[in-house]
Amino acid sequence: MEKQLAFEKKFNTLRAMIRGSRSLVVLTGAGISTLSGIPDFRSSSGVYAKRWNEYRVEEILSIGFFHAHPELFYEWAREFWYKLDSYQPNVVHTSLATLERKGYIRGVFTQNIDMLHKKAGNRKCYELHGSAEHHHCTNCNSYYSYASIAPIVLNGEVPRCTQCGSVIKPDITFYGENLDALVLAKAYEMFSHSDLTLVLGSSLLVQPAANLPYHSLQNSASLVIVNKQKTGYDRSATLQFTDLQQFGEALEAFAETLEERKSLV
Ligand code: NAD
Ligand code: ZN
Repeated sequence: MEKQLAFEKKFNTLRAMIRGSRSLVVLTGAGISTLSGIPDFRSSSGVYAKRWNEYRVEEILSIGFFHAHPELFYEWAREFWYKLDSYQPNVVHTSLATLERKGYIRGVFTQNIDMLHKKAGNRKCYELHGSAEHHHCTNCNSYYSYASIAPIVLNGEVPRCTQCGSVIKPDITFYGENLDALVLAKAYEMFSHSDLTLVLGSSLLVQPAANLPYHSLQNSASLVIVNKQKTGYDRSATLQFTDLQQFGEALEAFAETLEERKSLV
């Protein structure tokens, strides 16, 4: 009961902050998709807790490993990335979509590659680490969709370009690769002009995404963190919550009550 009261008190403050904000940006991480059944990396039950054959997941997801052993990457990814279309957005995704539709969000920046924000209806969604939705040939750059590649991978094969026969790679940022420069520039612009920044379900350990809240703080934005593990930004947060399910349900209920307002640019 006391816990519930403490939550209500904090959430009331957040309601006022959202109503008053003119430049709300959101950073999401793998934690939010655990509510849809997709494991994150750094929870105790996360993907990093296990090895795959003799490999660490960080190794499998490095660009050097991909080029050297595409067949091993795709064998691992078959279980992990190529069943993503069977997962559905959860209340955190839908609450953000409602807030955006009603004109309260400037941008949702996600580290997730699972396509769930877009599935939930967020249009101002920027995928910092790319998305499993898109693929390109590593040689001639021909484009392939998730829908065309998933059946090949699920069949145990390495997808190869129909034009030149080279290996096809998902447009996911591997360790050792740079983030898309345009998406990153957009992120710096929006976070450094934000007056309210929400960070949902991220350990804030992966750079440069982890650095984005710093740019908001430089602009004197209020920072709200929702994560069950500690993060390096906890001391700078105006409000902190730990339970994403409870937070998402409260945010969804609140978003439904909001009047639509002229969309923020
Ligand atoms: P992370 O795994 O490092 O951190 C997730 C955080 O979410 C953890 O600190 C955990 O405590 C918290 N969390 C999990 N469930 C929670 C709950 N129910 N309530 C509150 N907090 C909860 O994830 P990250 O910071 O996004 O970095 C991992 C990298 O891995 C990213 O680059 C991302 O691209 C990738 N990744 C993506 C997916 C996906 O697309 N769904 C899944 C796994 C990893
Ligand atoms: Zn090709």
